[in-house]
Amino acid sequence: MSESVVSLDKVTVTYGKQQALRNVSVAFPKGAVGLLGPNGAGKSTMLKSLLGFVVPDSGRLDVLGLNVADKPLEVRARLGYMPESDAIIPGMNAVSFVAYCGQLSGLPKADAMQRAHEVLYYVGLGEARYRNTETYSTGMKQRIKLAQALVHDPDLLFLDEPTNGMDPKGREEMLELIRDLAHNKGVNLILSSHLLPDVEYTCDYVVVMDKGAIATSGTVEALKGPSGRVFEVRVKGDVNVFVAALRAAGLDVADTDEDVMRVFVPASAKAPAGRPGGAGDDQRMICDVARGAGAQIRHLKPSLPTLEDVFARAIGEA
Ligand code: ADP
Repeated sequence: MSESVVSLDKVTVTYGKQQALRNVSVAFPKGAVGLLGPNGAGKSTMLKSLLGFVVPDSGRLDVLGLNVADKPLEVRARLGYMPESDAIIPGMNAVSFVAYCGQLSGLPKADAMQRAHEVLYYVGLGEARYRNTETYSTGMKQRIKLAQALVHDPDLLFLDEPTNGMDPKGREEMLELIRDLAHNKGVNLILSSHLLPDVEYTCDYVVVMDKGAIATSGTVEALKGPSGRVFEVRVKGDVNVFVAALRAAGLDVADTDEDVMRVFVPASAKAPAGRPGGAGDDQRMICDVARGAGAQIRHLKPSLPTLEDVFARAIGEA
């Protein structure tokens, strides 16, 4: 894939007996890509392997056309990395810290200082740039991590759980920055998160991981499936029998917290003979299944597909 910025080919990583990545092959296109999965899925391990911090047991990783095993320093020089854990040096103020990170990435001292001021203003820390970073709030620590990842103007940005620990307003501002980077500044980025709304708000493409493997990947639009149809359904009767009957009829079901289920009609589902197909026919099909299963429909309403539906089905919660 010529447009991919990152690719993994049959990559396995183990920590002791724990397999964190299991023979993973996947490519990440340019643009803003979400790496989505529950905690422990292997997202951080994948980013650390791409950075060369974790050496895989087997497989090959390429970043920006460079093989990570052959060119680890070249790869790192072109990447910006916002790690999940704190990244500050106690006793240093923000501007010195970010300028220092710039120098470590190869910028001359004067350029690093100038860029440090620029990126600190960009992330909203302009006023606080001479403060000791130890006195920073969690939200400010997240922002300074983004600033140090941007200081050397990288070709590709890795953001690991960038909204962790932030209050709702800070979170919104962080997502706004990420969106601006991706959509207005043309920065290629990979955003690792277990939070669907974060990915949905900022990314065009998503790779879903679960238990060290790729569960699914594609554009957000394609994954939601413009032609797949979703309905909210509530029934009275034996729900398990109804769910089994729906699945036997080729429909997918996901539970929600309430007693309302989400029923998915795949694009390939056939309309009854002699009918063009559509929401009305889908609803009739669901009613027929309920009748056959001895259940009464109490609520049946068309809904819009969400990324949450995709996620729930991809990681087998459906
Ligand atoms: P995620 O970023 O999706 O939360 P991680 O890559 O951090 O997932 O972790 C994947 C799995 O590897 C988890 O089961 C985790 O407990 C394990 N793991 C991660 N880092 C280490 C480590 N340094 N030593 C041992 N096990 C680890």
